[in-house]
Amino acid sequence: MNSLRVGVLGATGIVGQQIIHRLRAHPWFRVTALAASERSAGKRYTDAAPWRIAEPIPKEIGALQIQTLNEEMDCDFVLSALDCSVAGDAEENFARRGTPVISNSSSHRMEPDVPLLIPEVNPDHIALVDAQRARRGFKSGFIVTNPNCSATGLALALKPIDDAIGIEAVSVVTMQALSGAGYPGVSSLDAADNVIPYIAAEEDKLETEPRKILGKLHGELIEPAGFRISAQCHRVPVSDGHLEAVSLKLRSKVSPEDVTEALREFRGEPQRLGLPSAPANPIEVREERDRPQPRLDRDAGGGMAVVVGRIRRCLVFDIRFVLLSHNLVRGAAGGAILNAELLAHAGYIVPRTVAAPSHNRAENFRPTLTHS
Ligand code: NAP
Repeated sequence: MNSLRVGVLGATGIVGQQIIHRLRAHPWFRVTALAASERSAGKRYTDAAPWRIAEPIPKEIGALQIQTLNEEMDCDFVLSALDCSVAGDAEENFARRGTPVISNSSSHRMEPDVPLLIPEVNPDHIALVDAQRARRGFKSGFIVTNPNCSATGLALALKPIDDAIGIEAVSVVTMQALSGAGYPGVSSLDAADNVIPYIAAEEDKLETEPRKILGKLHGELIEPAGFRISAQCHRVPVSDGHLEAVSLKLRSKVSPEDVTEALREFRGEPQRLGLPSAPANPIEVREERDRPQPRLDRDAGGGMAVVVGRIRRCLVFDIRFVLLSHNLVRGAAGGAILNAELLAHAGYIVPRTVAAPSHNRAENFRPTLTHS
């Protein structure tokens, strides 16, 4: 298999930067094209991106010229980190022109023919791509999205519990990091010494997306999971890592130890396939009474593991716990890359030929795959 060339949409933003950083030594994928707004277009990446990662911009990326969303890109698929104000139409246009789109944006997530994918949880939902192509008249293009950053951690933790025991209701209270709002994000005068008990549209996403992700695929339709979710979302002065306090009403009475075992033993398709970005354990359980904590635990599994702790009985529901998930990694860039790995493995993303602008041609970026 040849290596696959990646275009990054929204390359200058905080998620776009993480995508570029995480692909710097990827065995299957190589970044060959970048796009952002008119403000950045025409500039070299190094001059346009407010880089916020300790390691420097990879040399070959810094020299790439940023394109607008209307130009053809020299790539086999795009990872989109576009602001949701533009992602909807732009992603649809890329897919219509034949480019697979793996998106972080919320624009297409709840459309019935778009997989809302977490490879460990609902890999079978990629079959919706065939229905999407037939319905929308796409040929080689399609749209697949990853969930909201808080919904990702929640859905991953709910999956083994729902499978083993059955969930009837979920109450979740989030404490979400500042980087979840993009760059520059929340003003320091609002964030410091403060908690903001409102994040626009967030509670709705957290109450609907996990039900689609944990839903059952029947033919070309997903029947959402039957449980209800009540969410309350807060922005807290933490740089990265969303913490969530979860209480569950379950179908049968089980002990905290049963829940611990279900979480600890959970593995999914990425682990079975050995996908490059798959953490060995998608869920890590901590026994200490004061974990997980964002600063100590957000990088578990290279930022791709959800860390769960304080699993105990709930005096109102049945079981409660705290989970932590890195919003920029598992909840965005890393999750999107893992989705792309699953789709490439399944043959939905393949090398393609496109006429690219000469300044960004990628002949120099075509290594042979070392991993199949
Ligand atoms: P961000 O830092 O604000 O970056 C937004 C990106 O979109 C920038 O590259 C920006 O380019 C580009 N953009 C804005 N307006 C545009 C336009 N009119 N045309 C073309 N490009 C435009 O936001 P982010 O946090 O990286 O988030 C990116 C996406 O991922 C959003 O949809 C967000 O909801 C989603 N997401 C974010 C997180 C997170 O934790 N941050 C987690 C999951 C999902 P310029 O620099 O040129 O303006």
